[in-house]
Amino acid sequence: MADTTIFDKIIRREIPAEIIYEDDISLAFKDINPQAPVHLLIIPKKPIATVNDIQEDQRELVGHLFVVARKIAVQYGFAKDGYRLVMNCNEDGGQSVYHIHLHLLAGKTLGWPPYANTEPKQG
Ligand code: 5GP
Repeated sequence: MADTTIFDKIIRREIPAEIIYEDDISLAFKDINPQAPVHLLIIPKKPIATVNDIQEDQRELVGHLFVVARKIAVQYGFAKDGYRLVMNCNEDGGQSVYHIHLHLLAGKTLGWPPYANTEPKQG
């Protein structure tokens, strides 16, 4: 169920998180297992399980996550140096929490490609 992820518990303050931004439709907080000096997760308060589940009428909601990312980048001073926004989808994309979230990574020069060297799938 999309409404029972750990992120819903963070939205409802049932478990702690270092929340750095909140508005009516989104929340941003520090990732518990940071992969860069700055690693934030920006989520909609409305639960949407994966990118595959985004509906046409949710364009504004999803776009809003990017506007929040830009505001945070400016506020925290890394907009000019740069940063990376990532949204993983399903197993091959590396998604582990089924409530869409924009990873915001910053604070160092980030490598590319953004994955360990894995073999292509067979078949
Ligand atoms: P995904 O793998 O789905 O793209 O990203 C999920 C992210 O959520 C991971 O980077 C993981 O470290 C983070 N995460 C998982 N559980 C928690 C939690 O309880 N609190 C916080 N702050 N981050 C979490």
